[in-house]
Amino acid sequence: MRSPIKQQTSGPPTSTTAPPAPAAPASSVTPPIGASGGRVELVDLCKRYGAGERPAVDHVDLDIEPGEFITLLGPSGSGKTTTLNMIVGFTEPTSGRIVLNGRDITRMPAHKRNFGMVFQNYALFPHLTVAQNVAFPLRERKVPAAETARLVGGALELVDLAGMENRRPHELSGGQQQRVALARAVVFSPSVLLLDEPLSALDRKLRQSLQREIKRLHDELGLTFVFVTHDQDEAMTLSDRIAIFDHGRIVALGTPADLYHRPTTQFVARFLGESTVFAGRHRSADVYEWHDRKWAVEEQGQGGEERALVVRPERMRLAPDEESVPSGSNAAPATVTDVSFYGTYYRIELAFGDGSVGCAALPVGAPATVEPGAGVVAHWRPADQVLVSE
Ligand code: ADP
Ligand code: MG
Repeated sequence: MRSPIKQQTSGPPTSTTAPPAPAAPASSVTPPIGASGGRVELVDLCKRYGAGERPAVDHVDLDIEPGEFITLLGPSGSGKTTTLNMIVGFTEPTSGRIVLNGRDITRMPAHKRNFGMVFQNYALFPHLTVAQNVAFPLRERKVPAAETARLVGGALELVDLAGMENRRPHELSGGQQQRVALARAVVFSPSVLLLDEPLSALDRKLRQSLQREIKRLHDELGLTFVFVTHDQDEAMTLSDRIAIFDHGRIVALGTPADLYHRPTTQFVARFLGESTVFAGRHRSADVYEWHDRKWAVEEQGQGGEERALVVRPERMRLAPDEESVPSGSNAAPATVTDVSFYGTYYRIELAFGDGSVGCAALPVGAPATVEPGAGVVAHWRPADQVLVSE
């Protein structure tokens, strides 16, 4: 068995919606607040570091489901870490509430919340061995030695580090060090695991392998994961839901597919995945105007608004001339500025007459290849475009 936590499940799950409950260590320790993946509610949460400063976190409301993998995604400085630190109890909110399984924990000290935390820089104790690092939270909780040994062994097996017990952090690769940090964060059966950019210090290949590892950990443990990243691909592949942060606020919340296919704002469309954004006008209910072009609109709406029209690269098609554009499609002439090969597709960069840029992803093996400098007509079906607000 790989999971140190499932081995000693001693009680029924407290929630019918949550996956099987990781039980509290069988010891004299106070049981964790949540016996399974905890439900965390952020209610009108605000943080202002200094009087007169703009809020780092600005009226955030978020209901995190038990056992969910939720990612806070946003540019640097958008308030992700501050939000995570308030959840874990390192940072005191200026106002608002944090609720765990229906209980207000806003003023509860961090150690009583019993949440696991993983940082970008591993934060291992350099003078302690791997086993001692992982055992640290159990020592703090006064777990008996035999129980500690069992839990540490299980946690190291869970992250594929069995046999490395006696190494010290400097004898491990970055990826292995982060696995130790993961083992240390789950060894005491927390109900919530918070991860602040845990993979950002690793190179791409390692990052991808640890992404899979983290996903597997989530699936096996059934804990609630709150994951912070500024990497959109990472957010897309790992998350049940993504909360997009901008200037301390959540500006979009949804599944990766929702946010990708139906972004509601330009910021979301540009931040999550690539897109071509046309800045025109939703003239009337079924007409979108971009310079001298009139495009069909299928979406409901009154028209008369300054909304941008977004087309994702895999929906964008290229034709050699206007005559070759299928009837019913919307079209804009463009010049190809770059062609890059990505293994499974070509990424074609486009420049439009008004100076705006866009891109199309063409499957490898598509009949017509294009060269930089070529004049083309970009086209797409009205059903494949999305109108977004500023
Ligand atoms: P992110 O994790 O998204 O990069 P942070 O939560 O770290 O964002 O920061 C949000 C804002 O709060 C930034 O403007 C940052 O400069 C500010 N900030 C973060 N931590 C502190 C602090 N300890 N003291 C003062 N300002 C801070
Ligand atoms: Mg941060």
